[in-house]
Amino acid sequence: MHIARKRFGQHFLHDKQIIERLVNVINPCPGQHLVEIGPGQGALTVPILKKIEQLDVVELDRDLIPALKTRCLGKGSLIVHQADALEFDFRTVIHNAESLRIVGNLPYNISTPLIFHLLEYAEHIIDMHFMLQKEVVDRLAAGKGEDAYGRLSIMVQYHCKVTSLFDVPPQAFYPPPQVDSSVVRLIPHRELPYLAKDYNHFANLVKLAFSYRRKTLRNCLKTIMSDTDWGKTDIDAHLRPEQLNVGDYVRLSNGLLEGPTDPNGK
Ligand code: SAH
Repeated sequence: MHIARKRFGQHFLHDKQIIERLVNVINPCPGQHLVEIGPGQGALTVPILKKIEQLDVVELDRDLIPALKTRCLGKGSLIVHQADALEFDFRTVIHNAESLRIVGNLPYNISTPLIFHLLEYAEHIIDMHFMLQKEVVDRLAAGKGEDAYGRLSIMVQYHCKVTSLFDVPPQAFYPPPQVDSSVVRLIPHRELPYLAKDYNHFANLVKLAFSYRRKTLRNCLKTIMSDTDWGKTDIDAHLRPEQLNVGDYVRLSNGLLEGPTDPNGK
């Protein structure tokens, strides 16, 4: 019997209906290449493997792996990578230029850095389905003006279409976490709807804007935007950071990079 390790964020799913619902929304189909992060004791691994021939899993806790392999025996081919998903090079599992589908009931303490790590592989990813802390899913999916809307919403929606699918209560897990959970679907855009000319500049602008949520944009951005700069945009400097959408931030960033306009208006 494995004792759940807190430092690995181990909360094992045991509610059969929730597991079935999750596998249904993932809808693994033969021929697809799925990668599961944090398979644990195989609550999702086994039902997913039954639907496809082969599955890669990335698991940090080596003590879980022997039982996981035993549980999957005869169900299909399980390829185990004992590794930290935050450092794992997801390109190494691609063999024939096929795209990946990523799934996982993630350890909540690493969920945000892991999503950013995975976004580096966005061009190789069809979609991602994660069980996360509900509060994080709300932030990922929020649109402008909503309470949960902020830097995380903008940075992830820059890369992906985000859909919150359903909520899961603590009792669905053992041991139960302190918080509610939700399942989220992220689909990387094949073509970015708004393209930042300089991604780091855009990312820094968003970070700066949200460092003082209650202030106006003019105040938040005064170190990088002069009144002249504001004069050149159609965005109102008196708005607050949560009133701009992804496209607005990209426009602001791209505009600032255009540099000073010719004083003669040429
Ligand atoms: N998918 C299983 C387990 C979820 S608990 C289920 O639903 O029951 C989270 C799992 O992620 C655990 O197995 C834990 O050991 C693993 N894990 C924690 N940190 C990890 C990391 N950095 N990289 C890969 N796996 C990790």
